[in-house]
Amino acid sequence: MSNAKSLEQLEQKQDFIRRHIGPSPAQMSDMLSALGVSSVEQLMEQTVPASIRLENGLQIGESRTEVETLSYLKSVASKNKVFKSYIGQGYHPTHVPHVILRNVLENPGWYTAYTPYQPEIAQGRLESLLNFQTMSMDLTGLDLASASLLDEATAAAEAMALAKRVAKAKKANSFFIADDVHVQTIDVVKTRAEQFGFDIIIGPAQEAANHDIFGALFQYPTTSGEVVDLTDLIAAVQDKKALACVAADIMALMLLKAPGKLGADVVLGSAQRFGVPMGYGGPHAAFFTTRDKYKRSLPGRIIGVSKDRLGNDALRMAMQTREQHIRREKANSNICTAQVLLANMAAFYAVYHGPEGLKTIAERIHRFADILAAGLKEKGVTLKHDTWFDTITVVAQNKEEVVARAVAAEVNFATNHAGEYSVSVSETTTREDIVELFDIILGEGHGLDVAALDAQISANGSQSIPASLVRDDEVLTHPNFNSYHSETEMLRYIKRLENKDLALNHSMISLGSCTMKLNATAEMIPITWPEFANLHPFCPLDQAEGYQIMIGELHDWLVDITGYDAVSMQPNSGAQGEYAGLIAIRKYHESRGEGHRNVCLIPSSAHGTNPASAQMASMKIVVVDCDKQGNVDMDDLKAKAAEVSENLSCIMITYPSTHGVYEETIRDICDIVHQHGGQVYMDGANMNAQVGVTSPGSIGSDVSHLNLHKTFCIPHGGGGPGVGPIGVKSHLAPFMPNHSVINVPGTSVDNGAVSAAPYGSAAILPISWAYIAMMGSEGLRQATETAIVNANYLAQTLSEHFPILYRGRNDRVAHECIIDLRPLKDATGISEMDVAKRLQDYGFHSPTMSFPVAGTLMVEPTESESKVEIDRFIEAMVAIKGEIEKIASGEWSIEDNPLVNAPHTQADVLSSDWNRAYDRFEAAFPVPSVAKDKFWPTVTRIDDVYGDRNLLCSCPAVDTYRDE
Ligand SMILES: *Cc1c(COP(=O)(O)O)cnc(C)c1O
Repeated sequence: MSNAKSLEQLEQKQDFIRRHIGPSPAQMSDMLSALGVSSVEQLMEQTVPASIRLENGLQIGESRTEVETLSYLKSVASKNKVFKSYIGQGYHPTHVPHVILRNVLENPGWYTAYTPYQPEIAQGRLESLLNFQTMSMDLTGLDLASASLLDEATAAAEAMALAKRVAKAKKANSFFIADDVHVQTIDVVKTRAEQFGFDIIIGPAQEAANHDIFGALFQYPTTSGEVVDLTDLIAAVQDKKALACVAADIMALMLLKAPGKLGADVVLGSAQRFGVPMGYGGPHAAFFTTRDKYKRSLPGRIIGVSKDRLGNDALRMAMQTREQHIRREKANSNICTAQVLLANMAAFYAVYHGPEGLKTIAERIHRFADILAAGLKEKGVTLKHDTWFDTITVVAQNKEEVVARAVAAEVNFATNHAGEYSVSVSETTTREDIVELFDIILGEGHGLDVAALDAQISANGSQSIPASLVRDDEVLTHPNFNSYHSETEMLRYIKRLENKDLALNHSMISLGSCTMKLNATAEMIPITWPEFANLHPFCPLDQAEGYQIMIGELHDWLVDITGYDAVSMQPNSGAQGEYAGLIAIRKYHESRGEGHRNVCLIPSSAHGTNPASAQMASMKIVVVDCDKQGNVDMDDLKAKAAEVSENLSCIMITYPSTHGVYEETIRDICDIVHQHGGQVYMDGANMNAQVGVTSPGSIGSDVSHLNLHKTFCIPHGGGGPGVGPIGVKSHLAPFMPNHSVINVPGTSVDNGAVSAAPYGSAAILPISWAYIAMMGSEGLRQATETAIVNANYLAQTLSEHFPILYRGRNDRVAHECIIDLRPLKDATGISEMDVAKRLQDYGFHSPTMSFPVAGTLMVEPTESESKVEIDRFIEAMVAIKGEIEKIASGEWSIEDNPLVNAPHTQADVLSSDWNRAYDRFEAAFPVPSVAKDKFWPTVTRIDDVYGDRNLLCSCPAVDTYRDE
């Protein structure tokens, strides 16, 4: 049987590589011949400067199959010990409703979408985010909410920054933090304050107003569980013309008077315990609310209600001008990727349970705390406080003994305050658990009976929430929180919203700089395993061995891929990575007695988060020009570096540049900056054009962030989560973030944290781990090469119809390219916006609009798209060009054509008074392939100006629904 295949051939070890990479070998050779090259290698030689190409391949090893990968990861995960967590401190066990688990968290319709930049095809997640905002506003008692921040601790740091911007106490430079705020929050706020040059005062909450401050932060209830009436403290702070900020527990707010009603100016906190697993620290969404008058100072994004072209209610990100890529160094914060998927989960949790259900959950938690406290008091145990929601702190002589019993019973308490320990009960706590807690704390044979204690409390009423703080207003009264409590209704609500959104499970999303590649199902499987999902970030390290192994291996692979020496996983977005990297640079200069170096050079093509982050690190930004080819203007760079030489801190440069080319001079750029004593920060968002081919470390950079949610396959979740680890050369390694509860090995204990959890959004790291394992050294390099082939094929084919703005050596582009629509606009008046909206009628999400150059579209196909899909996109673009030509020729007027009226909804196309210059079929099915499989936008073009003039950021009142 001479032509039987060998076992090795049959085993198909490369199976995952060919599934991750879109084009088949035949399609690859078609594209290569279209490009006039005979091999991938030849194209790479033409495209990537020889001076930066890696000589040796990656050391990651052979690709593993999906089965091997998952079985290995399972064995690693099982080394984690999932103890019952009563640690609290901002992280609580929760029951993720299964209907949400499967239909949101595990559903690519929800997790593969991008930030809703194209609102007409994102009304589903925009509605869910509006639910999140409405929920935030109701529970906190304030009138303006953002659509999620990165975690509670960074939200507190944002509150401090907002206080500084708006407080009338302009001369004050101090921010007060009550000493009973969560430790990790104090840590992160301190880091942020140090960079801004603010002073932090920590002391008993009552002393806040004794100081000259611009703001103060309180915790409600406190980290040790006490429920304190903050009314007078807040008023005293406001008397000083300072802002009062309150970090609150979202579940407690179901029972406690809203902080806004106590007078707070800002309320923030984590929405984790609303149905999002602890995940060893994240990802979770933070909520943030404040007064309407501070809307222009709010960090992050606001979803607002506006009107579409036909006058219907339609949602979109309000005041898009606040987006960081537009505001740059004037931005309120550097938040770009946030936590949309997790905010949606929390909002759905509230929709599913409704106000009654949530109140019952909160009351049950509170009752268990009351029962626990009553039993302990009866036995003479000293409790630290007389009030609580869910957390009982015991003042204990026998702490060691109790903690030892707890560990033996596989139970964790919070133990990081001397002489005491705390027990936080949660939604998952049961009667049996309370008995077990009595056994642990009192020793067996205590004779306490849960039912008897409960009967006492039921009879006498609970005293543990002060009467003045019992919530008496109605919350979550909007129909969205009162209509979907059966699973059938809930399932359909989730599906109805999902259907409005275009995600990667519909078509290619070629957003340049965003790297919308495959998020393989196998990569997603481990994140919901209990061994990864249910660990508290502050559990003892010996319970997180599996995590340590997985993180350690990912660390080593990322070191290999980046050419750096060390990596920190802590930052939970790319922009947070930038911030962490800039802090490392600053601390490095300080360690050498050069703390005065504070100038950051940023090329004009940079992403807006770069200047926004530099501003947060108190750096002075000097913009370096680009030349006509889109490259950094070397003369300008030399001149500016020389001018600021003594004060040069660093350059922030993206490679390949956001113009989509491998700049030839990148090594020189690094050299020039180094000669003046500066450091090189290479923005790693474009690593998809580097992996296995070149690396920031080998090029000469000192530090980079990676967007694991771009190059390394963590899905974008509709606008988050993300992970933005930083890689550094060894001289910067000592200056990477640490954590005040869990010490991160290799960094100084003096380094503060940039995220609430020591390993940031640890729960989604298995996604990147699995991607790298399944691709192996060979697959990763192939992915990069294929991304370059796809982009060049697309650029070359489209260049017959549109100018491609920048090209590198041999007229090649890197992994993305910019389509210049300005000439067409000048000739016809049709804008990039019209083209972007018209693409929706063709079933596509627009490429990145007007970044980095106004009036252009930046396209990044990634390696995961097949030639078939790229050809469909090209077909759409060419057809749109044809439509524009009809306007140029006068066949259609500039007022009446399918572009300016795009996108078209069913209601629009089917309306009885159709009298346009083009017919209905042309409007909806402009090319035959669209008719086969039509994706319908659910609103027509949205009026941004109307929405900004009439800012409404909660669910519209019921009357508006009736009007419809
Ligand atoms: C996406 C991106 C960032 C910001 O990353 P986030 O994870 O969204 O914070 C920074 N720079 C560039 C070039 C990017 O494309």
